[in-house]
Amino acid sequence: MSYNDYLKSPHWKNKKKDLALKRAKKCIICCQVNNLDVHHKTYKRIGSEDINKDLIYLCRRCHKAVHQFVKDNKLSIWQATERFIKLKKIKRPWEGLSVGQIKKRGIVIPMYLYGI
Ligand SMILES: [Zn+2]
Ligand SMILES: [Zn+2]
Repeated sequence: MSYNDYLKSPHWKNKKKDLALKRAKKCIICCQVNNLDVHHKTYKRIGSEDINKDLIYLCRRCHKAVHQFVKDNKLSIWQATERFIKLKKIKRPWEGLSVGQIKKRGIVIPMYLYGI
């Protein structure tokens, strides 16, 4: 079965239900609750994923960004995901600031985070 077929299977649907029971349904990076995807941190256990370790919720935008990060940094998907989460979660220096203050301080907000 291909990965895409797997994502349409009843088995995967049940997996997602189990995940929804265990986790808050929000993006682990930006906390958005709409347009959520389930991201595989590893493809090693496809079909018998460990819900506690292998799967996380990401919104569409953060999800795309994570996969881009994997490509750009030539890391394993696991390493890249871990690193990306740390990077994005710790440093949001614009939080709580007005647009004027952000400009004054010369803070650059990654494009895809606008509007989140
Ligand atoms: Zn993914
Ligand atoms: Zn997000």
